[in-house]
Amino acid sequence: KARKRFGQNFLVDHGIIRDIVRAVHPQKTDVVVEIGPGKGAITELLADACDNLSVIELDRDLVPWLKVKFEKHPNFQLFQADALRFDFRQLIKPGQPLRIVGNLPYNISTPLIFHLLGYANQVKDMHFMLQKEVVKRMAAEPGSGAYGRLGIMVQYFCAVENLFEVPPTSFDPPPKVDSAIVRLVPHQQLPYLANNLKTLETLVNVAFQQRRKTLRNSLKSLLSMAQLDSLPVDLNLRPENISLAEYVQISNLLGDVTPVTTVGPEEDIE
Ligand code: SAM
Repeated sequence: KARKRFGQNFLVDHGIIRDIVRAVHPQKTDVVVEIGPGKGAITELLADACDNLSVIELDRDLVPWLKVKFEKHPNFQLFQADALRFDFRQLIKPGQPLRIVGNLPYNISTPLIFHLLGYANQVKDMHFMLQKEVVKRMAAEPGSGAYGRLGIMVQYFCAVENLFEVPPTSFDPPPKVDSAIVRLVPHQQLPYLANNLKTLETLVNVAFQQRRKTLRNSLKSLLSMAQLDSLPVDLNLRPENISLAEYVQISNLLGDVTPVTTVGPEEDIE
């Protein structure tokens, strides 16, 4: 029986399962890691395609079952662990960046992706099933209503591709929301380099605290009037009209800021 507290919605649509694995396109020698294998719906096809597969599953009741099912696979490693606390360095082999796959429990998807971004330079790519709205926000371009903190911070590290949608009927039990598959490919070299990532985060948080405010109004808690006027952007714009490149540029002018106001509710973080 599916456990709600583990965010268990098992994929039962074989067409979708094949589409996901086709999108991942695993090669024999790839080092693949699946987060939350559940009953092995995706795992089975991954195991057929690659020689090096590790899975991380939190629910200990699923573990014996997964062991039996995959023990014959040559290089199968099963970790009964919380992926949020898992040290992914133990899976990284020299010259073999990880390929990460997961139909993630939606309640942990954002913190988990931020945890994984910490290993971005040792990750080749990541394919995740997420809430459709979250994928939209990750892939959002400036000027769209979905553009905000999540998209900016993920796009700082990765190219983001919204691949395809998955309806609730593809799962057992069906989730209440539509889902989508996203591909994240960490940049080999960051296109824009923030001197201090925390400053960039603070800046973006403050700017988007009230999306309807102009930058002039929202940034005055961080900067003096003179500093504001020296910024290379139009201060009458709203936060959603500022590109990642411009946020990084502003952030690098700020130095190490301590926010004057406390950061409010996390509108983008589920
Ligand atoms: N991959 C399977 C599928 O597609 O049918 C299961 C997907 S289900 C949405 C999410 C899976 O992640 C469940 O098996 C759940 O037990 C597991 N899980 C939940 N929280 C986890 C965590 N913190 N770390 C690792 N696995 C977790």
